[in-house]
Amino acid sequence: MPDDTTIPSFGPAPADPPSPPPGGHLDPDDWGAFRASLHRVVDEMVDRFQSQGTGPVWKPIPQGVRDALAEPLPRTARSLDEVLNRVRRDVLPYTLGNTHPRFFGWVHGSGTPVGAMAEFLAASMNANTGGRHHGPILVEDQVVSWVRRLFDFPPEAAGLVVSGTSMATIVGLTVARYRATRGLDRREGLRDSPPLVGYTTRDGHQSIRDAFSLLGLGSSALRAIPMLDDGSMDPVALERRIAEDVRAGRKPFAVIATAGSVTCGAIDDLVRISEICRDHGLWMHVDAAFGAALRLSPTLAPRLDGIEKADSIAFDFHKWFHVPYDAGFVLVRDGRLHTDAFGGREDYLTSLDQGPGSGDTWPCDLGPELSRGFRAFKVWFQLQALGADAIGQAVERNVRQVRKLASIVDRERELERLGPADLNIISFRYRTEDQSNAELNELNREILLDIQERGLALPSPIRKGETFGIRVCLCNHRTRDADLTALVRVVLELGRSLVPVG
Ligand SMILES: *Cc1c(COP(=O)(O)O)cnc(C)c1O
Repeated sequence: MPDDTTIPSFGPAPADPPSPPPGGHLDPDDWGAFRASLHRVVDEMVDRFQSQGTGPVWKPIPQGVRDALAEPLPRTARSLDEVLNRVRRDVLPYTLGNTHPRFFGWVHGSGTPVGAMAEFLAASMNANTGGRHHGPILVEDQVVSWVRRLFDFPPEAAGLVVSGTSMATIVGLTVARYRATRGLDRREGLRDSPPLVGYTTRDGHQSIRDAFSLLGLGSSALRAIPMLDDGSMDPVALERRIAEDVRAGRKPFAVIATAGSVTCGAIDDLVRISEICRDHGLWMHVDAAFGAALRLSPTLAPRLDGIEKADSIAFDFHKWFHVPYDAGFVLVRDGRLHTDAFGGREDYLTSLDQGPGSGDTWPCDLGPELSRGFRAFKVWFQLQALGADAIGQAVERNVRQVRKLASIVDRERELERLGPADLNIISFRYRTEDQSNAELNELNREILLDIQERGLALPSPIRKGETFGIRVCLCNHRTRDADLTALVRVVLELGRSLVPVG
């Protein structure tokens, strides 16, 4: 570092903040007015968080709002007040409702006020975490090391905050493909490789099939292994299928185990699958999109035993960790292999050994994205502000609530449970003695839509074979037991009112 007196300087620091260049700059002209608007936005945000659960979960979007949202690109500035009023009128009232205590649909996290605060701060930093040497990179490093320890992975494991489990699975399976082809895939593609095949169950998530397509393996190279009654992969069938593929000259390379299936929350036998992977030299990838959060609960964590043996794990912070959308994570045991599968930078991205352009492994060396936002920040912030234990307790409550809901459903003669409900997901339907399956499907579709469209609650639909059902998935730290008993009551009332008397 040169002596301060000899370095060229931009001149003495001005007493006032520098004035912006004339014309075309994008900062506010009136900082006082901006500050006042922002304060109002913050107050409204807190009010909204505080009053969650008082209105309908979801409501239909009127035509006027849809028209407003189809207007062409504005060429000239609108006042901030006008833009904010449009937000208040057209956007805020029509979110999907997944911050509401009676949101039970799909697999959606419910977010947190501290997460929203973190998003706001992150946006003000405008950090690009593709690489280089700055605080935000160290924040992500710390998140990586927390995750590594959470899953008992070795110090050389690498990880990356990504958009979600879909991307995390693409990254994990790319490293698996790299290992299976001894790195030839990066230059030569797959043309000289025997056909690579992988394994999951029929309930394995759609994103796994998509990853197979994107990676050039083809979705038919992903075998759907039969499941046991609890919805988990049948390990005996897995071994049989591996042997068949080997006999046919194909090259099994990966098993994609599921820790929390979207249909019923099933968790594969991860210990058994890790043994099979070891015996056959296969990569073990775990889709733990929401199930990963079980690791935060001392009582539920044992359900994930064996996950610490995986080669890669994909999961979401935006589901059961309740970090605001979007934030997922991929963890890879062999950090060296991970860097080899993605690394190599253009000349203009060369690292220096010190200064802002330094650092050995940049996040862009571990995935397909170069520019990256500061997703890690909200994860880091929220885990500190709430503590991992509180998130684990919210997870435990959801599991307890589903168990209780299952016992109510099992007791009610007019309700029928569809499949296992061992974690945070349960599917059921309203039934009568004398209606056909097709009639019951139509009846339950009507019940579900009525509940959704009136904004009473938001369960989602499920199809199990020929049977249509109502699916409740609890990834919601705001749900109270009473919200679930209310749902049961409404289903029964609607069912009775919709069945023709006769
Ligand atoms: C949600 C989910 C995914 C996909 O994750 P995204 O975050 O939506 O990309 C994959 N697997 C399971 C089991 C999921 O629940």
